Amino acid sequence: MALNQDARNRIGISFEFFPPKSEEAEGQLWKAVSELQDWNPDFVSVTYGAGGTTKAPTLATVSRFISSTPLATASHLTCVGATKEETHSVVESFRKAGVKHFVALRGDTPDGVGAPYTPHPGGYANASELVAGLRELGDFEISVSAYPEKHPESRDVAADIDMLKRKADNGADRALTQFFFDNDNFERYLEKVRAAGITIPVVPGIMPIMNLTQLKRFAGACGTVIPAFLDERFEGYDDKPEERAKVAADVAAAQIEDLARRGISDFHLYTMNRSPLVSAVLTNLGFKRNAAQSAGAAA
Ligand SMILES: Cc1cc2nc3c(=O)[nH]c(=O)nc-3n(C[C@H](O)[C@H](O)[C@H](O)COP(=O)(O)OP(=O)(O)OC[C@H]3O[C@@H](n4cnc5c(N)ncnc54)[C@H](O)[C@@H]3O)c2cc1C
Repeated sequence: MALNQDARNRIGISFEFFPPKSEEAEGQLWKAVSELQDWNPDFVSVTYGAGGTTKAPTLATVSRFISSTPLATASHLTCVGATKEETHSVVESFRKAGVKHFVALRGDTPDGVGAPYTPHPGGYANASELVAGLRELGDFEISVSAYPEKHPESRDVAADIDMLKRKADNGADRALTQFFFDNDNFERYLEKVRAAGITIPVVPGIMPIMNLTQLKRFAGACGTVIPAFLDERFEGYDDKPEERAKVAADVAAAQIEDLARRGISDFHLYTMNRSPLVSAVLTNLGFKRNAAQSAGAAA
């Protein structure tokens, strides 16, 4: 399952974190960061207040990444429930904190994923408008979302690809995908994306599976299909966390290895603010930690 040296040299990784909601979670996040930065990610990203929460936790987390780690840090940004002026003021706060890279998103209504979305009358209607707005505000690096298995609100994959094209045309630099487990489907999706004239990198979002039962609930809301082979791989490990973690690391490493063989070179790993599983995946692929970079995060 390990990649050969050539393949490893080609591969770039990024890590996604979320702002902690308690003191204990805060400790867990920074412990994970201090361990994961040794893998030299190209960048890390911090999610932005889902369900209408404020910018404060994201800003605090992003600021600490920038001030106390060597990691290039992107902030997610949503435009839900905000006027354009309010969004611009948020962008300004992040710019002052040193943010140069945004993951620009529409976001979900505070009523939760799947509830009908109503844009703010004075705000950006969707992520493609937000990308255009960001391009006017500054010379930011801009990532956006992509949905290989389609967004739950989308009519079909073609509507999703149309939205991705608008985001790319408005200046997005790359797309990070919703997590998925069906590489054949991703390859077909990517062919359609390229056929639509979209040339930006489409970076697979990889979710190492800590708990398949919990993931199934979450995946349903995101529209991610859980293939039957995962039930088979995890069968019998419910009460055996160590063996389960080994299977999880094998599954995610095998997914990355297979995608790398199909020519994919960048991967965005959803860390869930924990390091052991992500580190096990990268170890399985043959990557080596760079201990020289480990100072700073746990300040
Ligand atoms: C990599 C990644 C990171 C994310 N980070 C965050 C985060 O930090 N915070 C957060 O709150 N959420 C986050 N999300 C979730 C995201 O906010 C939701 O999926 C949201 O519903 C759509 O936002 P978007 O930017 O993808 O929307 P858009 O790109 O604007 O639209 C996504 C798709 O939905 C369809 N669509 C959009 N609007 C409509 C409509 N009105 N009617 C029909 N179809 C429509 C379009 O076909 C489009 O392709 C993330 C998602 C991904 C993949």
